Amino acid sequence: MHGFVQNKAAIGLHWAALEHRRLEQVIALEGQFDLVKQHLEVNVTGLVDDQSQRAAFAVLTHVNHAAGKYRVLQPGHGNQEMIRQVNGGRITGHAGILTGLTKMQFDTGVVWFRRDLRTDDNTALWSALKSCKKVYCVFVFDQEILNGLPRQDRRVEFIRESLVGLDEDLRALSGKPGAGIIARHGAGYEEVARSAQELGAQVVFAAHDYEPQAIARDIKARGALAELGISFHTVKDQVIFEGRELLTKTGTPYGVFTPYKNAWLARLNDACLKTHDVAPLSGALAERPVSMRRGVMTLAELGFAQTNLLELKIPTGSAGASELFSTFFDRMDRYDETRNFPSVKGPSYLGVHLRFGTVSIRKLVATAWQRTLHGSAGATVWLSELIWRDFYFQILANFPNVAHSAYKPEYDAIQWETGEHARKLFKAWCEGCTGYPLVDAAMAQLNQTGYMHNRLRMVAGSFLVKDLGINWQWGEKYFAEKLNDFDLSANNGGWQWVSSSGCDAQPYFRIFNPVSQSEKFDADGKFIRRYLPQLAKLPTKVLHAPWQASTEVLAACGVTLGKTYPEPVVSHEEARALTLQRYAVVKKIKPG
Ligand SMILES: Cc1cc2nc3c(=O)[nH]c(=O)nc-3n(C[C@H](O)[C@H](O)[C@H](O)COP(=O)(O)OP(=O)(O)OC[C@H]3O[C@@H](n4cnc5c(N)ncnc54)[C@H](O)[C@@H]3O)c2cc1C
Repeated sequence: MHGFVQNKAAIGLHWAALEHRRLEQVIALEGQFDLVKQHLEVNVTGLVDDQSQRAAFAVLTHVNHAAGKYRVLQPGHGNQEMIRQVNGGRITGHAGILTGLTKMQFDTGVVWFRRDLRTDDNTALWSALKSCKKVYCVFVFDQEILNGLPRQDRRVEFIRESLVGLDEDLRALSGKPGAGIIARHGAGYEEVARSAQELGAQVVFAAHDYEPQAIARDIKARGALAELGISFHTVKDQVIFEGRELLTKTGTPYGVFTPYKNAWLARLNDACLKTHDVAPLSGALAERPVSMRRGVMTLAELGFAQTNLLELKIPTGSAGASELFSTFFDRMDRYDETRNFPSVKGPSYLGVHLRFGTVSIRKLVATAWQRTLHGSAGATVWLSELIWRDFYFQILANFPNVAHSAYKPEYDAIQWETGEHARKLFKAWCEGCTGYPLVDAAMAQLNQTGYMHNRLRMVAGSFLVKDLGINWQWGEKYFAEKLNDFDLSANNGGWQWVSSSGCDAQPYFRIFNPVSQSEKFDADGKFIRRYLPQLAKLPTKVLHAPWQASTEVLAACGVTLGKTYPEPVVSHEEARALTLQRYAVVKKIKPG
């Protein structure tokens, strides 16, 4: 017998990602299946290629019964492909032949919230409510992530506070006192599988995640759920265009921003921005079983201590995001003029909300786009920033190697400073003790608040790499630990940009001068004075480079270089010359 079936189990068969293979080169992959009557039981030794975000739930499977071999073929590679090698994975599913998710109705489903901590326009929640009679909402404080974090971490507190808001929102939306979030603590994939089983679910919904570790987690989740006969369905939520949705004319992912942005804008239409209204479907939100009706665990229960998040008045949850956005709305038209000045309230400060999905990217883009169409220069530039965000997501999805090496491989050959000397310089940078006020104020802002203004991320990043000669990956790691809005894709993209090793990065010979950047973007020294009060009394003329002040001026302002404020750790001019030498290696190596 020859025929086509859509095989639910096939998408559960993703064990290990084919990391070093270019996705677009793979056209079709073969799988071997042993079918068992009624309950589909599959042993796979070959390769399976699926496209997990498609609305159609299943991989199209060509089953060749005559040969006793089953070929898994996927016609076309429009969107993000997930290509994985399946090593003897044994999957059990109870409903082998499916016609597509949209027509499917489940009795019970679970929404696994991860970085989409809102009810408004949440595609995973909406999809679950559309296709299940009863929907439970689960969040897992994932030990595999939390274990690597400092015990005081604003992100954990932000998530916790946002979950409290989400819990309330779910209850209000459902109108049922027993509804709300089921919060768990453990390994993400295990806890979600356990919860789904305990709740008697047939399907789990979640939003796509593009980070290598998250993809690995989802592969494990898919396997663990499939073992229990539970489907796992993921949908696009946090970006407008993902993975391979936008390709160049030659069918390859974009590596340069401007053509990507043009393609992005050309493809944008109302359908891409259509929001998912959960309110009319909210009757499906179920009351939690009594044993699971408890509030979100405290920070102490999670093994964390409180931070200064509340003191900083960083608003959390969807309510916090709305508050920030409504104030930014009034400033959006001037964003093009204000965004580069760290002492001015120019940007939106929505980064952390976009990171944890307490705001819908579709709604933000829709607003910015409308205003762009009405001729707002500020909105046009802000929209461009949101496109950079998508750009870096697709870079990470299509070139996952950027997470541990340079986008341009020849830049991996650069010899960075090493040993005690490098460690000392790096420590001075981390602690904001380089002797360059704008860099030090930027680092103080990061250390004290978890935020750093975009202009300063560029200046401080460039200083680390091109003045101190430190490997950009050290800086990337430090930012990853400290930034509230840390996102692997944007952080990596930003660091590859400043180090010139990335896609569309600044040329290596362009080296920010930390003093002229300071004079230009903090001309009156307001930002420096705020974060470096020990320099507050210095006249603005010398504030940007205190070593140029006379001893008398310094003394009159209570500054003693080397004591109350450091001497510069390097001379910018010497460092610049060294950097050009260091980067010369790049010219000698032909890109492979
Ligand atoms: C070295 C370096 C590291 C960075 N690390 C991160 C990071 O970990 N997470 C992060 O979200 N952004 C990062 N950025 C980009 C940018 O600095 C921040 O997004 C921005 O400062 C956040 O502040 P905001 O929300 O007020 O931004 P706004 O200026 O209001 O911009 C709105 C949103 O657009 C997105 N965005 C803006 N600029 C960029 C950009 N260059 N690349 C990608 N997305 C952008 C962000 O989601 C931001 O919240 C980094 C930039 C550099 C140079």
